[in-house]
Amino acid sequence: MTDTRAVVAGVEVSLDHWIGGKRVSSADRFANASPIDGADLGAVAAGGQAEADMAVEAASAAYPAWAALGPQGRLPILRKFAEGILARGKDIAAVESADNGSLLMGNLHRMVPRAAQNISFFAQWALGLNDHVIDHDEVVNNVRYDPSGVAALITPWNAPMMLTTWKVGPALAAGNTIVIKPPEWAPLTCSLLADIAHEAGVPAGVLNVLQGIGEDAGDALVNNRDLARISFTGSTDTAKIIGQAAARSITAMSSELGGKSPFIVCADADLDAAAQTVAGQYINAGQVCLAGTRILVEASIEAQFLEKVRAAAAQMTVGDPRLATTRVGPLIHPEHFARVSGFVERAKAAGAQVLWGGAQSDAGDLYFQPTMFAGVKLEDEISQKEVFGPVLTWQTFTSDEEAIAIANGTEYGLAGTLFCGNEARAMRIAEQVVAGTLWVNCFFVRDLAAPFGGSRLSGIGREGGTHSFDFYCDIKNIAVRKGSFANKGA
Ligand code: NAD
Repeated sequence: MTDTRAVVAGVEVSLDHWIGGKRVSSADRFANASPIDGADLGAVAAGGQAEADMAVEAASAAYPAWAALGPQGRLPILRKFAEGILARGKDIAAVESADNGSLLMGNLHRMVPRAAQNISFFAQWALGLNDHVIDHDEVVNNVRYDPSGVAALITPWNAPMMLTTWKVGPALAAGNTIVIKPPEWAPLTCSLLADIAHEAGVPAGVLNVLQGIGEDAGDALVNNRDLARISFTGSTDTAKIIGQAAARSITAMSSELGGKSPFIVCADADLDAAAQTVAGQYINAGQVCLAGTRILVEASIEAQFLEKVRAAAAQMTVGDPRLATTRVGPLIHPEHFARVSGFVERAKAAGAQVLWGGAQSDAGDLYFQPTMFAGVKLEDEISQKEVFGPVLTWQTFTSDEEAIAIANGTEYGLAGTLFCGNEARAMRIAEQVVAGTLWVNCFFVRDLAAPFGGSRLSGIGREGGTHSFDFYCDIKNIAVRKGSFANKGA
């Protein structure tokens, strides 16, 4: 089959699958357009049952040799893979920006280094996995982290390179082989990732990329009985569907899902820093799962803080994400634009007050103004549902108990942000907010060793550091009676 290629942002990208160390095409294709200006980015291979099965077979065939290499044997290959990501950083950043409308500078300076670190960090961490020994009176428990088999890695469109490598790193370092199912609204950087892995010496079949629509390629993949793991990042609704497939074959699944995170500001906080950080929630047009979209402000400082946030939000320039001055790029797709606009119109109709924004921006078809709603109640749709756009709500509180009750008053529990000047008070509030990550006087800082994930409808399981390997590995205890061997053997 021919390898269908496109030139995107000056970079040549294959639009086909990568299976068993080769490009594999599909007669069925799906259209891919840039959210920046609607430019045609080429017709991408739309895999189905046959391609999904082929990818899992290739990964299964490559598994024994990759697993047998051990963490030490995999380390140099994965280091080279990470170096390859850095070496092609400009290409990755430009293609990702064209493909999903994310900020070019953010991709270059944050996403690409992070993607490389996702690979090298976990490759290094894996070296120490089998050092864990629990010494008991009679036995020594040798805790082993063994590879588990083939992992399906499914990711969303808002940050494909960063989110996919967050799974690829530990899955490969653990000794698993993988099938990546990229998001159909931003499928291109995962294709580049296959080229980079290949050039770094990742053996054929160890990393496969299955392009296609979620309900077709994704569905065929997660229903394959030869999977050992399914790692999913995306919406809660899709997780419920994939979870049923995982349940049918008792396949372990991790889910990193949506959120409706609170952003609490206490009266004694550094209000300038807090206001800048609130405005920062509009970055990438608010298409950030961790965004603190519900601003909860201590009533005594409402007026002065609102003016600070208003001023900071006014600096969030909407426009072409390739320009260094832009802070808010386009929404990903016309369907998503309609979804975001729908939330905004329904909130207005329900009586919410628009403090600013509330409409399409004149920057282009898919651009939406940074928006703030006041006069909302906790039970309103705009307070409860994830909009995934540049839309925030503004509420006040008069006691910590009230702030905590509002913060915990949705079905989600992904993250939370708190700005507060009093350490004891901050920790009291932080401990009571239901969230996988709670930032205090900071935002978006994520250590790769720290646990990451969501509670309630925001997910199942934690990844990061050992937690990633707890998921990707088969953990075994070899319990040996002390003094039971006649000789040490060879
Ligand atoms: P989505 O659930 O529509 O799609 C995610 C992925 O799942 C895509 O690759 C899609 O092709 C695939 N998919 C869809 N249906 C499938 C099926 N039936 N079987 C198998 N795969 C299927 O999500 P999205 O719209 O791409 O992403 C936005 C969502 O992701 C938001 O809710 C956001 O909060 C969430 N998100 C969460 C995190 C996190 O770390 N918690 C990070 C980023 C985004």
